[in-house]
Amino acid sequence: MMASDMAETWRNCFEEELICPICLHVFSDPIQLPCKHNFCRGCISEAWAKDSSLARCPECNHAYTQKPSLEKNHKLSNIVENRLLNYRFFF
Ligand SMILES: [Zn+2]
Ligand SMILES: [Zn+2]
Repeated sequence: MMASDMAETWRNCFEEELICPICLHVFSDPIQLPCKHNFCRGCISEAWAKDSSLARCPECNHAYTQKPSLEKNHKLSNIVENRLLNYRFFF
């Protein structure tokens, strides 16, 4: 089996909540907004860097008049890290 097939199978095994809606990859350094939506820290920072006056949740479009602090989603982060460990174990 090709490594790429393995990666594909592995990716299909992921629940949707482990996928960042911006980059469509597994979260890297996931953060949670007050509206409970999760994004990679890098993705949301980049999305918000484009417009300094307004911060919107890309998922539910909730507008924040003030950029909320990006709180690390520890639970999600742990799940992702565990999955990545399993992934490495494959090879
Ligand atoms: Zn992302
Ligand atoms: Zn949201």
